[in-house]
Amino acid sequence: MYLYNSATHKKELFKPNNPDVVKMYTCGPTVYHFAHIGNLRTYIMEDVLEKALRYSGYNVKRVMNITDVGHLASDADTGEDKMLKGARRENKSVMEIAQYYTDAFFADCEALNIKRPDVVEPATGCICEYINIVSTLIEKGSAYVAGGNVYFDTSTLDKYYVFNDHDEEDLAVGVRDGVEEDTNKRNKNDFVLWFTKSKFEDQALKWESPWGVGYPGWHIECSGISLKHFGGDLDIHCGGIDNAFPHHTNEIAQSESYLGHKWCNYWFHVHHLNTDGGKMSKSKGEFLTVSLLKEKGYDPMVYRLFCLQSHYRRNLVFSWENLDNAAVTYNKLIARIAALKNDGEVDQDTLKALKERFQNALNGDLNTSLAVTAVYDVLKAKTNDATKLEAIADFDYVLSLDLLKAAEAVRAAQQAEAEAEESDPEIDALIAARTEAKKSRNFAEADRIRDELKAMGIEIIDTPQGAKWKRV
Ligand code: AMP
Ligand code: ZN
Repeated sequence: MYLYNSATHKKELFKPNNPDVVKMYTCGPTVYHFAHIGNLRTYIMEDVLEKALRYSGYNVKRVMNITDVGHLASDADTGEDKMLKGARRENKSVMEIAQYYTDAFFADCEALNIKRPDVVEPATGCICEYINIVSTLIEKGSAYVAGGNVYFDTSTLDKYYVFNDHDEEDLAVGVRDGVEEDTNKRNKNDFVLWFTKSKFEDQALKWESPWGVGYPGWHIECSGISLKHFGGDLDIHCGGIDNAFPHHTNEIAQSESYLGHKWCNYWFHVHHLNTDGGKMSKSKGEFLTVSLLKEKGYDPMVYRLFCLQSHYRRNLVFSWENLDNAAVTYNKLIARIAALKNDGEVDQDTLKALKERFQNALNGDLNTSLAVTAVYDVLKAKTNDATKLEAIADFDYVLSLDLLKAAEAVRAAQQAEAEAEESDPEIDALIAARTEAKKSRNFAEADRIRDELKAMGIEIIDTPQGAKWKRV
């Protein structure tokens, strides 16, 4: 499999250090709010990467952190802790907030068929690991204590690795955006490994450390958790493109200084989902969530398809119109699959050729839109339906679009429709009113009509051909 490596700026043949298991690390969510669908684009593409590796025959061990402490509001080691801010907003404790939004995150993942990583580690569970790394970095002369905090000394590095060309000003995170310069820092790129003195004395979670009672910086958590579960080497590190700097840059600095050798071989960065209005951000207040998509009547699979239709290294623009187009595509695709009949023996040679095309799409830097096209190639192939169904089931391990499950639901609806020969002008009128309400995005009215019909003992079945009903 060829993958683009952001560290080398090249597509490279993927080769794990140990052929028996791919070590894959994913930066997890900061659990102070719901994940927005931009965050989830990143997790969908990482999920596809993991499944593509497994599909190619690799065994994968995947670890994800949950950031429940230490992610400050600014990259510049300043501002309030995001968790504390969330807790205050909702009048809850930090731990309550963390648990609530961790559960919400995995519920969203489940709705989007994102597999849960093998290991999920809250940042607050590995304090000893961070203290150990920070102590070693101080012993090695790579870190220093100043003004009560421990800082990583970037001048000790041969190269402060950054993934892209940033200008001097960009790199000086400590002094941009009107953020007050931290005068404890020896170099402007230095970053905090352990805080005992932040401007926010009311930091909720604190631990004893050799440098005083305090809490870890954000970057150290991913190094600590990765080193704990994988030891000193890592095959792939994933995250959204905004994590490349300073987060991943600082992870490399501290991990390699601690280990004394190269740490991670491949860096996989997913580009952003933006709205017409620009960047999508959790801190902006109103934002797009999976629940909102569901409320508006979209199947989460439609959003997953929308993401798979574009390449992970391109920015993707979200609009309702684009999502509607994806819904039409999804429904048409499912209707075509629903028309297939299990009609006998699978033609193994044809299946092999179809699978090869799918594998080639994945091998070309995870070309998911081509992988989706491979499903259409199956539908068009000159072979029997049983072979097509087998190929689609096989591809759906990676695509995870519920292709067969949704097709089955369509078939069931068609059957129910055939059975429901009755016609009732009153019910038909209500169904038509609901369809109109949905069209004009009056979802409250659409829900009200559904409830009214339910009270009359009528169940509505939404099918690609429109809403049908049956008595229950
Ligand atoms: P956070 O919960 O803020 O720590 O972010 C979780 C993940 O979402 C990280 O990998 C981010 O890089 C990624 N991310 C943040 N914003 C976006 C976006 N607009 N589109 C795609 N990924 C994003
Ligand atoms: Zn991370």
